Amino acid sequence: MKVLVVGGAGFIGSHVVDALVKKGYEIVVVDNLSSGKKDFLHPGAAFYSLNILDEGFVTIFEKERPDAVFHLAAQINVQKSIENSRLDAEVNILGTLKILELCKKHDCKLIYSSSAAVYGNPVYLPVDERHPVKPLSNYGISKYTPEMYISLYSQQYDVDYTILRYANVYGPRQDAEGEGGVVSIFMKKMINNEPPIIFGNGEQTRDFIYVEDVAAANIAAMEKDCRGVFNISSNQEMTINSLVDEINSSLKTKLAPIHKKFRAGDILHSCLNNLLAQNKLGWEPRFSFKEGLKKTVDSYRQ
Ligand code: NAD
Repeated sequence: MKVLVVGGAGFIGSHVVDALVKKGYEIVVVDNLSSGKKDFLHPGAAFYSLNILDEGFVTIFEKERPDAVFHLAAQINVQKSIENSRLDAEVNILGTLKILELCKKHDCKLIYSSSAAVYGNPVYLPVDERHPVKPLSNYGISKYTPEMYISLYSQQYDVDYTILRYANVYGPRQDAEGEGGVVSIFMKKMINNEPPIIFGNGEQTRDFIYVEDVAAANIAAMEKDCRGVFNISSNQEMTINSLVDEINSSLKTKLAPIHKKFRAGDILHSCLNNLLAQNKLGWEPRFSFKEGLKKTVDSYRQ
């Protein structure tokens, strides 16, 4: 079976590729290396350095004829989505629509990486898939709009799909700039003996999910015949203060955070309910936060 991983040189995409290699799939990667790195890419994957918006993408898709597509390529920086809303919409909305059209034409399953950003400010916790969708950023809108196209194409043209909404993903190869990059931002500072900066009192919470668990969820989505939207998360709230404690303990440091003013617009608490993914995809997180953090610290040390 041949699979295409779009965005396969990125943080999460490269872990999806590693997991697919272990399972013996034939893999093709398309990535324009705008934030991804060729070094992240497993040598067992065929690689095309290309923008999905380029005409050549259709040619490659039709030459390779994959059976399934993992679509992880995106403009993921929330600030950039505000500064350059057009680029954000082009890559995230039009780029996904282009892939969806190809999936429709060639009867190919689509596994789409979406985000907790689609929910906006939680009305209740933990947020399940029936929670109202109300994005607070251009980025959130650009991640949700493709979800609506995908579900419509499934109803109208029977396109097979799974949508995965990730909580804050962390792990080796994460860039400090991306969505949910707080673990890597703190890690980069603290490994250099610098204090982390917390906006607010640090009692705000996030739900951190280890990247190899996210990769496993992608594989489960491809292997199970299960259309729908699934939260991929740890189902656990962790305060930012506890995050600093955990990193201190893992690095054997005692760095006290610097507190700055809480940023207006930041979400106070975030946690996704992952029970649907457990029940329907047969997936659950395998790595505790301590285990995931240890692997992340080890990779930073290298
Ligand atoms: P990333 O930036 O590391 O990966 C994205 C990859 O897509 C990069 O390799 C980049 O070079 C590539 N890319 C971007 N635009 C492209 C284009 N036009 N053509 C071809 N390739 C292009 O980001 P990530 O954190 O690995 O995110 C992967 C997916 O997961 C994204 O869709 C993101 O929205 C989603 N997501 C991430 C998180 C998180 O915590 N990191 C949380 C929720 C959702």
